[in-house]
Amino acid sequence: MVTDLPRRNWAGNVAYAARAFHRPATVDELRRLVAGSDRIRAVGTGHSFNRLGDTTGDLVSLAGLPPTVEIDRERGTVTVAAAVRYGDLATRLHAEGLALANLASLPHISVAGAVSTGTHGSGDDNRNLAAAVAALELVTADGELVTVGRADGDRFAGHVVSLGALGVVTRVTLDVTPTFAVRQYVHRDVPADALDAAFASAYSVSGFTSWRSSTIDMVWRKQLADRPPPPADWPGATPATEPVHPVPGMDPVNCTAQLGEPGPWHERLPHFRLGFTPSSGDELQSEYHLPRAAGPDALAALDAVRDRIAPVLQVCELRTVAADELWLSPNSGRDTLAVHFTWVDDAAAVLPVVAEVERRLAPFAPRPHWGKVFTLDPSAVAATFPRYADFLDLLVERDPTGKFRTELLDRYFPRG
Ligand SMILES: Cc1cc2nc3c(=O)[nH]c(=O)nc-3n(C[C@H](O)[C@H](O)[C@H](O)COP(=O)(O)OP(=O)(O)OC[C@H]3O[C@@H](n4cnc5c(N)ncnc54)[C@H](O)[C@@H]3O)c2cc1C
Repeated sequence: MVTDLPRRNWAGNVAYAARAFHRPATVDELRRLVAGSDRIRAVGTGHSFNRLGDTTGDLVSLAGLPPTVEIDRERGTVTVAAAVRYGDLATRLHAEGLALANLASLPHISVAGAVSTGTHGSGDDNRNLAAAVAALELVTADGELVTVGRADGDRFAGHVVSLGALGVVTRVTLDVTPTFAVRQYVHRDVPADALDAAFASAYSVSGFTSWRSSTIDMVWRKQLADRPPPPADWPGATPATEPVHPVPGMDPVNCTAQLGEPGPWHERLPHFRLGFTPSSGDELQSEYHLPRAAGPDALAALDAVRDRIAPVLQVCELRTVAADELWLSPNSGRDTLAVHFTWVDDAAAVLPVVAEVERRLAPFAPRPHWGKVFTLDPSAVAATFPRYADFLDLLVERDPTGKFRTELLDRYFPRG
């Protein structure tokens, strides 16, 4: 047992209820720990905003295991230790002339933690980060070390976005591509009806709105550097002439370079630089994944309550994610519009607005971001995942005594 692991998540809104904190130095130590515990969860870098990664039993960080990064050029993959952060992996891959297809908005998150919740970036043709997983190594409830990969077919698709419920992931194999360069362009005051065209106009695109008006405050477009700058002939829109931060009024010093300056993929695809504190720190986040085709109607439904949203909002980010086949992925089987809210750090004021947002989005079959704040009805969530029942079976098979279960899992994946 160790005493120097953080007792709270990054945002500080979750105090871990664990009876003991562990940081094994070897996989064998981890296996013994898992086999001997009746209730255990893994924690990554703690960037989730809910109790998904919490337990009343043993909480285990894999940050004490060697941070291995093994490149297989023949297969076009990299196998990385679970606790390695995307930013560190990206720096290493770029030095080797390689890249990942996409990244989330911040590079500080662990690979296993991000994959477990279906973390995503943006791009009409970009799938979420979990979709790049080719294989996983995990310690299962009985302490066995098993590997599941694409060769295991459909069953593998159930293991990737696992919510930490199938075992403790020790290594992740990801697809890699040749490295590439990106230029980032920001435009202000983009008409809402131009959003779809904006999404289609560059490799990775984010719209930011404060819901204080019907225009999109900013559109950030990350374009492959060997392509021409994306067109921006939107009435009333203006190109940013100096670097900006997604949250109005915050210093852009911790943001990735803009103004069309070319740079490597990992220094442009995230919004935040690895060496700086990401985002504002004092915040809560929620995010809902909607079928892409429902996007305009869903945004209109939110526009109707923007006077409720705006007072407790720091910023709302709109992104697109391509469909994948992973059972619990928020993007499973459907191209997605992801509607993200960075709220103020005041749960009492925010939660009623979260409930209002969820009511407005209910007709559009929203799926939650598993690592953020949500209160959606469990049966409605279940109904949006065609493979939900298969995942329930997999849960029972992999964890018959429920040692990886949490209160949040019990609510959304009740035992029969
Ligand atoms: C400032 C900020 C920006 C963000 N931006 C984005 C974004 O752009 N896109 C997006 O989709 N999300 C975003 N998120 C959310 C974040 O990516 C997810 O919450 C992600 O899961 C965090 O990874 P983590 O390593 O901190 O995981 P944790 O929060 O530590 O854990 C998340 C889950 O993974 C499980 N887990 C962790 N490690 C393991 C392991 N080794 N084996 C098995 N299970 C494990 C935990 O049990 C838990 O269930 C953001 C969060 C913050 C704070």
